[in-house]
Formats: sequence, C-alpha cells, structure tokens
Amino acid sequence: MRVHTITLGCQMSAADGAETLQALENAGWQKTDDVSEADAVVLTTCTVRAHAEHRAISMIGRLRTWKDADPRRMLVVTGCVAERLGPRLTQRFPHVDLVVGAREAARTPQIVAELLGKRFQPQPKTAPVKNKICACVTIMRGCDCACSYCIVPSVRGPEACRPLEDILSEMRDKIAAGAKEITLLGQRVNAYRESGKTFADLLRRADCIEGLARLRFMSPHPALMDEKTFTAIRDGEHICPAIHIPVQSGNDRVLALMKRGHTRRDFLEMIQRLRQAVPGVVLSTDIIVGFPSETEEDFAQSLTLLEELKPAAAFCFKYSAREGTPSARLKDDVPVQVKEDRLGAVNALVSKLAQAALHSQIGSEVEVLAETPDFGRTRTGFKARWKQAVAPGSLLRLQVAEVSRRTLSGEISS
Ligand code: SAH
Ligand code: SF4
Repeated sequence: MRVHTITLGCQMSAADGAETLQALENAGWQKTDDVSEADAVVLTTCTVRAHAEHRAISMIGRLRTWKDADPRRMLVVTGCVAERLGPRLTQRFPHVDLVVGAREAARTPQIVAELLGKRFQPQPKTAPVKNKICACVTIMRGCDCACSYCIVPSVRGPEACRPLEDILSEMRDKIAAGAKEITLLGQRVNAYRESGKTFADLLRRADCIEGLARLRFMSPHPALMDEKTFTAIRDGEHICPAIHIPVQSGNDRVLALMKRGHTRRDFLEMIQRLRQAVPGVVLSTDIIVGFPSETEEDFAQSLTLLEELKPAAAFCFKYSAREGTPSARLKDDVPVQVKEDRLGAVNALVSKLAQAALHSQIGSEVEVLAETPDFGRTRTGFKARWKQAVAPGSLLRLQVAEVSRRTLSGEISS
C-alpha cells in the first residue's frame, strides 16, 4: 500500500506530517512521491495566514481528479485548516474521507493509521524506519499566548507539554535510527514546564544524550528568555549558537496592539544579554508588516530594529487578518499596495543583512554536518557546499572560501 504525504506550513506542521508518515510506514505503508500511484494521500495543512489556507483549499480541490480515478483511494486532511473548518471541509469537498484537526495532533498518527488500516491491510514493519540526519522532536503543543493577530491558540488549543522522559526517549530512538541533529519544537519552546522541570533543564538533559551531534530548538518567545536558558545554551556542548526568535515589530505601539508582552527595548536588551552569554550567536527572526494602524514611521522602526539585530535571516509576512482573532476586529487600514511595498523594503534589507552575515564567514574554518555527500549546515545554521563526496551524517571542518547566492562553499580540511 502506498501513501503520498503533502505538508504545508511551518516546522510544527512539517513535524506533525512526518510523525503521521512514520506511523504509516511502521504500519507497513510505503511512501511514494508520485501521487498517481498512491492509495492514500495525507495532507497536513496550515492556516496561520489566509494565503496558507487558500493553498490547502486549492490542493484539496486539485486532488478530486486523483480521488475520482479510483474511489477506493483515501484522502485525509489534517492540521490547522482541518481544525478551523472541520465538517465544513467535507461538506464542500465530499471527496475528502477523513478530517483530523490540529487539536488532535498528538493522536493524529494513530487515528490516521487506524482508519487507513481498516480500508487497506498493509503488513506491519518489524525493523524501525531509518531516520533523516536532521530530525524534529515536538516538546509541547498549542500556545497559551494571546498575540492579537494569531490564530494558532484557537486552532491548536492551550499549551500541553510532553513528559521530559518521553521527549528524551524519542530523541534516543531517532538517534538510534540515524539522526545526528535534533530540533526541539513548540510554539513557545521556552515556556516548557513539566513536573517542576523547565526548558533550561530539558536543554541540559537533552544535550547529554549519547550520539547526539547537534541540538537546536524553535521558537523561543522573547519575553521568556531568562539567564538559566542563556547559561544552558552556553554550557551545552551540542547546542547550536543559532537562535530563531520572533520579534514581529520594532515599534512599541504596534507591539502593544499585537499583545506581544515585550517592548522594543526589552527585546534588544534581552538580545544583548544573550550575546554576552553566547558569544558569536547567530540570530534570525520573524516580522509582520502592515499590522492595522502601522504608519510609515512605525514600520521604519522595524527596519532600524533589524539593523541593530543584524539577523542572518528573517521571515517577513504581510499582516493577514484571521477570523476570530482579536486584531481581526481592528480596521485593517493599511492598503494592500502599502503592505506590498513594506514587504519589499524589509525583504531587501534582510537580503543585505543575510549577505553580510554570510560574507563574514569567508576565511574562517567552520564545522559542518553533512546532510548529503556535498551539502550541509554550519552550527550557526548557514548552508554550505563542497566538492569532495563525504558520508552523510559526518561532521567536517570546512575552510570557507566563497559565498555563492545563499550558500558558503570551500574545501574540507578534515
Ligand atoms: N509560535 C511562533 C510562531 C508561530 S506563527 C512564535 O510565536 O514564535 C509563525 C509566524 O507567522 C509568526 O512569528 C508571525 O510572524 C507570522 N504570523 C502569525 N500570524 C500572522 C498573521 N495573522 N498575519 C501575518 N503573519 C502572521
Ligand atoms: Fe501565535 Fe504568539 Fe503563540 Fe506564537 S506565541 S503561536 S505568535 S499566539
């Protein structure tokens, strides 16, 4: 039996989709990249912005011909659009067989494997499925924050942290199956609390797991970055000094309207403390442009914040009003063209900063983890290429000679 999986959206969604695929592979399903030969399709969806939801809806529409070609085929839709629209999806698209919302994300792999197992009877696998070199482990689901623009708390529900021992044991399993780098995932990873243990405790325990080469996490919330977390990052032998930490805006009035729980100054002071604790740390962030009432001056403060932060990357989005969120009640008074222009301006600055960060690496020797024979990433998260083929999964030293587009390249020195 063959399954084709399609995952839209953030890393959280990608991790959810990967877990479902793994459960299906363990149940005896074979993954296929060719939808025309699939007996089942599992589509994991995202609704964080209207555009993401439209992509999911048009994908479901396009899968109708696939389904009509053989009605025994099964189409499963999971994730945030499934949660938001629920039965409205099957009403509009009768060719969808099963809808499992994001609030069920922890149980989705089991639900999907059971349902598909009833229609088809694959032979369960006995040997564990081989893992990717870079794997993700979800440490918490949902979000207790109430950022006024964000639909995540309503579609993913309140925060629920997994037991620490379950997380460590999943990490060990993934490492035993070939993973070298693990990213701990959650909407607000540093809000992790479980039986008196904090995120910093989790980082310290995870860092000691045998066979682990690198540890990353995303996304931490700026208001929860404390000294304990900084020192855990600094002390961690495998914790990578590359931190993605969303700021959203550089203007205090907009940050307050966004209900972010931090000011521009709070954020920049926290970054200063982080830089003192973890010298050489490379940062990335998220920015929303065109939030209701954002003026040119407010927006210019997002640009100056980025200039101060000097991130190696930033993901910039046009504000998208999401039904049911507090900010959807505000008048969206920033014209589409203005939003487009601001997005263009911020992306141009981000490209310039990204190039500067990449060029600062020329002449240095960096550690890279080979994800393929000639491609990998540095500890600080830069992409890197080299000529000589190596075994995927190995750690190498690379003498950086040049930057081509967004990738470092050079000679392997060991
Ligand atoms: N939990 C993560 C982010 C989740 S959503 C965090 O808080 O760090 C990923 C990114 O999408 C956010 O950081 C934000 O920049 C963007 N985003 C969320 N809602 C949005 C909206 N309504 N319009 C535009 N961008 C949005
Ligand atoms: Fe959304 Fe804010 Fe929670 Fe991130 S922290 S998921 S932006 S509500």
